[in-house]
Amino acid sequence: MNNLNVDVIIIGGGLAGLTTAVYLARAGKKVTVIEKARQLGGRAGSQTKEGFIWNQGPHAIYIQGAGRAILKELAIPFSGKKPVTVKKSWGVLNGRLHLLPGDAGSFFETELLNEGGRVALGKFFLTLMRQKPETLANQTVQEWINEYLHHLNLRKIMEMLGRVATYTNQPEQVSAQMWVQQLQFALQKNVIYADGGWQSLVSGLRTAAEKAGVEFMIGERATAVSESESHVTVTLADGKQVDGQQIVIATTPQNVAELLPDHPAVQQWHNTAVPVRAAVFDVALKALSDPNRLLAFDLEKPFYLSTHSTFAKLAPTDGHLIHVMKYLNPNESGQTAKAELEAHLTLVQPGWREQLIHSRFLPEMVVTHWLPTVENGGINGRPPIQIPGRERLFLAGDWVGNKGWLADASFASGKAVAEKILSIRTESLHRARKESVLSA
Ligand SMILES: Cc1cc2nc3c(=O)[nH]c(=O)nc-3n(C[C@H](O)[C@H](O)[C@H](O)COP(=O)(O)OP(=O)(O)OC[C@H]3O[C@@H](n4cnc5c(N)ncnc54)[C@H](O)[C@@H]3O)c2cc1C
Repeated sequence: MNNLNVDVIIIGGGLAGLTTAVYLARAGKKVTVIEKARQLGGRAGSQTKEGFIWNQGPHAIYIQGAGRAILKELAIPFSGKKPVTVKKSWGVLNGRLHLLPGDAGSFFETELLNEGGRVALGKFFLTLMRQKPETLANQTVQEWINEYLHHLNLRKIMEMLGRVATYTNQPEQVSAQMWVQQLQFALQKNVIYADGGWQSLVSGLRTAAEKAGVEFMIGERATAVSESESHVTVTLADGKQVDGQQIVIATTPQNVAELLPDHPAVQQWHNTAVPVRAAVFDVALKALSDPNRLLAFDLEKPFYLSTHSTFAKLAPTDGHLIHVMKYLNPNESGQTAKAELEAHLTLVQPGWREQLIHSRFLPEMVVTHWLPTVENGGINGRPPIQIPGRERLFLAGDWVGNKGWLADASFASGKAVAEKILSIRTESLHRARKESVLSA
């Protein structure tokens, strides 16, 4: 098939590709999205099994993040709740559960903070909210913590919250810019767990795209990209070709490197990108052995647990869906993490095995493709939305552009790339007009 009428070809039907598609098609562009999997959504896709909706590990929408603002702007509806509990959130220290100071009652009741600790928490909160994250790009999280967190248990609580809000566990390398921003978002306005899973966001974007005229080629893998003066071409695994005016590659650093093997900057991004990974153990249970233990995070080790179905419609009325997770270090294998994840679950919900309906172990999930370290320039060091020296080739994804973190970066880069493409005609018109004025 040679489709010469397409304006923009988008490779990748995850959140980034779908966001770009909706903005472009609504502005009148003829858009085709090529997706290699059998369903759209990428890592935001969810599956339904035994009446439970399974996201690919724990997923939360940051209320102050770019994603929520973009979904609102595009009028993509979704519902859900904040994971707010009264005395049901726990911190694990030396194998024992302690109430976390999340509400007024637990603030005074927790054994984790003495009076000095409570005062330090109040002061720290004010300091944190006054920080301007964009000024912290050259400071590591460790350096920032050393400056502001001196009370031992408060420090452990904030390090844990930082892990939960960023999915990273490398304070000695990661830039404080993203870490402080995410902590501000988490503590100021919190997050939302989505009813129906993140697939509801994917379905909403797909419906909006289809209404705007986007065409989908699902189950088709892009294997090559070429560019000439007049157009671009994408070749698919079965040899079909699609022509267009611009291409947006919304996939992974590795895939972009395969599609553009001769571009030095692209090869360098692929070689330097360090993925942020997690090992995930998801369980569907008939009942909770302790309904008062809904969230539990280790304060010294990188373990997370949250009962997502309490806050979002993800389970039958009498069922419970829990995500347990380990934040992995860059060189650590997740293959052996299952026993550790089961042990964390056993500590919180001791009778889970008797209540088990179904479980799923995902040992090495890529949460995002770019660990923002001080060395690589943090968020500002991520690859730009336009490939240098290539007028018709663009990028989007959670490792692209200088805005947002996790899915917020996918949404933000998706929107930025659409705006850039839509401005090209205007830019060239301006240039032509300027040239004709000069020559007159
Ligand atoms: C365990 C886990 C927890 C997470 N929790 C959160 C969270 O709480 N909050 C948050 O904001 N984010 C979270 N994320 C991150 C979020 O899921 C991702 O950032 C986001 O979904 C990425 O979207 P994307 O479109 O950039 O990439 P992807 O979802 O990876 O989409 C890329 C698409 O491109 C397709 N593709 C690749 N190569 C080709 C090719 N050659 N041809 C055609 N198609 C191709 C893929 O099949 C895929 O569908 C989490 C991720 C994980 C794994």
